[in-house]
Amino acid sequence: MAPANTDRPDPGLLAALGAIVGPKWVRSHLTERRPFEADGLPTHASVPMAVVLPSSREQVIAVLKLLAERNVPWVARGAGTGLSGGALAGGNAVLIPLTRMNRILSIDPVRQRAVIEPGVVNARLSDAAAPFGLQYAPDPSSQTACTIGGNVAENAGGPHCLKYGTTTNHVVALEAVLPDGSLARLGSPHGEPWGPDLVGLFVGSEGMFGIALEITVRLVPLPTTIRTLLADFATVRDATEAVGSIVAAGIVPAALEMMDQACIAAVEASIYAAGYPTDAAAVLLVELDGATASVEAEAALVHELLRAHRARGVRSAETATDRARLWQGRKKAFGAMGRVAPDLVVQDAVVPRSSLPSILETIGTIGRKYRLTVCNVFHAGDGNLHPNICYDRRDSALADRVARASAEIMEACVAAGGSITGEHGVGADKIDYMPMIFDSTSLAMMCDVRRVFDPANRANPNKVIPIHACREWREPQ
Ligand SMILES: Cc1cc2nc3c(=O)[nH]c(=O)nc-3n(C[C@H](O)[C@H](O)[C@H](O)COP(=O)(O)OP(=O)(O)OC[C@H]3O[C@@H](n4cnc5c(N)ncnc54)[C@H](O)[C@@H]3O)c2cc1C
Repeated sequence: MAPANTDRPDPGLLAALGAIVGPKWVRSHLTERRPFEADGLPTHASVPMAVVLPSSREQVIAVLKLLAERNVPWVARGAGTGLSGGALAGGNAVLIPLTRMNRILSIDPVRQRAVIEPGVVNARLSDAAAPFGLQYAPDPSSQTACTIGGNVAENAGGPHCLKYGTTTNHVVALEAVLPDGSLARLGSPHGEPWGPDLVGLFVGSEGMFGIALEITVRLVPLPTTIRTLLADFATVRDATEAVGSIVAAGIVPAALEMMDQACIAAVEASIYAAGYPTDAAAVLLVELDGATASVEAEAALVHELLRAHRARGVRSAETATDRARLWQGRKKAFGAMGRVAPDLVVQDAVVPRSSLPSILETIGTIGRKYRLTVCNVFHAGDGNLHPNICYDRRDSALADRVARASAEIMEACVAAGGSITGEHGVGADKIDYMPMIFDSTSLAMMCDVRRVFDPANRANPNKVIPIHACREWREPQ
C-alpha cells in the first residue's frame, strides 16, 4: 500500500472541478482515492491528490484548462489494467479516469470504421461490430476490462496482433485534448494520414501528450474460417524452435502463443482449465484464419512443422466452444496465477524470434538464481515475452529479489538484440531502463517532442523519459 498522500488540493480547486463535472464526480477523501493508487503492476503505487471523472468532451476540455491555469499536473486513466505503472498519479497530481466516456458513437460497415469514446472497453467494440461481419482486431488479453483510450496510449498488442498489427495500425484519426485544453484533430478518418503522421506519434505516447477523446478506428472483416491448434512439447526448446520454423515457412498465423509448464499448471488448477496437458514442458496455441482453402493448406503444413519439431500431440479445436476454451486458458492465465502467490509481476520484453530458445533458458537460469517462481505465457510469434514472477510483496527481501531478477531479464533481452517492452509500455516501471536502449541524443529528442505537446511537463509527469535526459526539467541540485 502506498503512503497516504497528504497533499490536499485547495478547496477552491475541488470546488472548481466540481462545478465542471458535478461534485459527486470529484473524489478527494483518502478512502475514495486509495482504489486508484495502482494499476495491474504491484510494484508501484501512489495515491492521487484528487480524482475527477468527466463524462463529456466539454468537461475534459474545461478540466484541462482549469488545471493549466493553476499549473496542476494530471494523469489520464482508463481501466487501470496497465502493467507498467503508467496510470499512477502522486504528489499534487490529479487523476482523470475516462471510464464514464464509454459510448460507441458510430459503426460504419461500408467504410469499415468505428468512432468511439476513450472509455469503451476493448471487447465491447468487437461485440458491437460482429453483427456487421466486422471486428476490432487488436485483442489484448485484458480486453474484457481495458479501454481503447488506454490501448491507444500504450499502443497495445494482443495475441492476434501477429497477423493484424498492433493498435497503431488500427487508429486512423484522433481528437485529442492537449494539456493546455486546446483540441487537436489528428489524422484523417478516410485513410492514410494527411501530412506528417501525428496519429502515429500520439499512439504509444503513454498519456504524456494529452487525452485521446474521440477515436476513429479501422474495423476488419471477420474471417470465414478459423483453425485453432494446440501442440504440446517435451522441451521448451522444441516448442520455441517450432515457432521459428512456422514463420520461416512463410506462414503468418493469426496468433502463435506459448505457455510453459508452470503456467499450464496454474491454468489447469483454476476455473479457466482448458485441457492443456499438465506433463508438457510447453504448449503452443496456433491459430490460422482466412479463406477456407488457404487455412486448410496452412494447417496441414503447420501440423507437419510441429511434428518435425517433436510435438508429442497436435489437436485441433473441433467446435467454437472448444476453441473458446483453449483461448480462455491463455487469456486468463495471469488471473490463474493468483493461485500461485498473492502478487504477480507481469514482465514484458521483446527479442528477435530466433533468440527465443536461448532467452527462455536464460530466464530459467535467472529465476533459479533468485529462487523465484517464473511462469512464461507470451506472444511467441512476435518474440514478445512475458516472464511472470509470482511473489508476495509483503516480503521485502523477496520483493528485492524480484526487482533484481527483472532488471537482469531486461539486460538479457537487450543483449539478445531485443528491447525492454513489447507492448506494456515504459510507464514508471521501465523508466530507469530507457538508457539501456536509447542514447542521450534520442532521449533528448523524445524530450523535445514531448515539449511540443506539453511544454510545462504536467501530463503524466515522471514517466517514460528519464528526467536527466530533459535538461530543462532537471531537479535543481
Ligand atoms: C490480465 C492482463 C492481460 C494483459 N494483456 C495484454 C496484452 O495482451 N497486450 C497488451 O498490450 N497489454 C496487455 N495488458 C496491459 C494493459 O491491459 C494494456 O496496457 C491496456 O492498453 C491498458 O488499458 P487501460 O484502459 O487499463 O489503461 P490504464 O492502465 O488505465 O492506462 C494506461 C496508460 O494510458 C494512459 N491513458 C489512459 N487513457 C488515456 C486516454 N484516453 N488518453 C491518453 N492517455 C490515456 C494512462 O495515463 C496510462 O499511461 C494486460 C493487462 C492485464 C492485467
